[in-house]
Amino acid sequence: MALKAVKTAPQADPWQVALKQFARAADLLSLKRGIREFLIHPKRELTVNFPVQREDGSVQVFTGFRIHHSTVLGPTKGGIRYHPDVTLEEIRALAMLMTWKCAVVGLPYGGAKGGVICDPKTLSPTELEHLTRRYATEIAMLIGPESDIPAPDLGTNPQIMAWIMDTYSMHHGYSVPAVVTGKPISIGGSAGRIEATGRGVMIVARETARHLGLPLAGARVVVQGFGNVGSIAAQTLHAQGCRIIAASDSGGGVYQADGLDPEDLLRHKQHAGTVAGYRGSDAVTNADLLELPCDILVPAAMEGQITAENAPRIKARIVVEGANGPITPEADEILSERKVFVVPDILANAGGVIVSYFEWVQDLQSFFWSEEEINERLERILVRSFRDVLAVSQEKKIEMRTGALVRAVGRVADALLTRGIYP
Ligand code: NAD
Repeated sequence: MALKAVKTAPQADPWQVALKQFARAADLLSLKRGIREFLIHPKRELTVNFPVQREDGSVQVFTGFRIHHSTVLGPTKGGIRYHPDVTLEEIRALAMLMTWKCAVVGLPYGGAKGGVICDPKTLSPTELEHLTRRYATEIAMLIGPESDIPAPDLGTNPQIMAWIMDTYSMHHGYSVPAVVTGKPISIGGSAGRIEATGRGVMIVARETARHLGLPLAGARVVVQGFGNVGSIAAQTLHAQGCRIIAASDSGGGVYQADGLDPEDLLRHKQHAGTVAGYRGSDAVTNADLLELPCDILVPAAMEGQITAENAPRIKARIVVEGANGPITPEADEILSERKVFVVPDILANAGGVIVSYFEWVQDLQSFFWSEEEINERLERILVRSFRDVLAVSQEKKIEMRTGALVRAVGRVADALLTRGIYP
């Protein structure tokens, strides 16, 4: 899942953005002060500093974090990020967002997030394994199949999850596959997990089109970021009859008015390392790609791509946030005024955590489902969640982003009041 470094808009402090979004939902729910206070404070935050011996014999100290935002709905769930720009505030914001993402789709989890300040591209495979096993040991007091279940995020992958699972299992003396999700299938991973986020993007895009009366057959789709999420979203939307008119990655973009073949484009990318240069297509820059006239725009690369600067020129009717936070709060307001229908990240890319939940359930039962069963269950949860959020946003006359937060925060607040305050 490594993203190449690309220049993006300067980011607002992610924790302040998360607090602002929460406050809006809390106001609409008329939450009492004490409940608000409780929900904005992460339950626990762990910072660890640990040494790793490099291949040249030198020792380097790394800093990592694991944060549990909320345990009200169940054990915590959230990815682990390896990136040089990781900060405590970023991980705190992402942990809170995980609480809302799990709650909006009705999973029995609270939110968590972890990260290590490092550039995985500069570490050898052995160094990466040592860093991962040591970090897993340092946060072992927090993780576990009943307490906190990590997953991959930027800079981490199924192999890293396998090392965490193995390290945790060695400490316990028996195999504990349910301690992480996003593992390789050979050690308890789930069928359909790799495709889940992109498939989920397709499901919510399809439901949105249905709601707006837009026929999917021939609908023009633009995908920014032809990676895991973007390429699967493109393929599954293409299978629904959409025309994928443009796609991009960090190497550039391609445009074809009568539609690209996403499977063939993926083969080209696997061979050439980028979608750029695909035969029969015109080149388009990433900036221009976002502004192409289209029906559905899927930003599936990274955060901060649609800003106050380019939002007035976005011509899509629907924007489905495959990536986390691709639209800045200022751009969100502009799109809302311009009546662009935005499906927010916590709903649009929840397919990944939903199938992670299925992986955890299968591991706990040691009983595995077929890919068809996984996809059917994913479909059911996402369609129900989309309709739920749409109903809230129509009833309260608010955008889908705030509707999703109202649904999520309301669920956690209800559970908190039902459980009561200990002692
Ligand atoms: P990935 O690394 O597989 O793909 C990202 C793609 O974006 C790559 O093709 C990369 O070249 C491209 N890219 C990077 N910068 C770009 C730019 N400026 N313009 C255009 N393309 C650019 O990552 P992924 O797993 O597909 O994740 C993409 C986004 O979705 C991230 O924001 C991630 O946090 C989010 N997300 C992923 C999952 C998941 O299950 N994979 C789940 C939820 C959210």
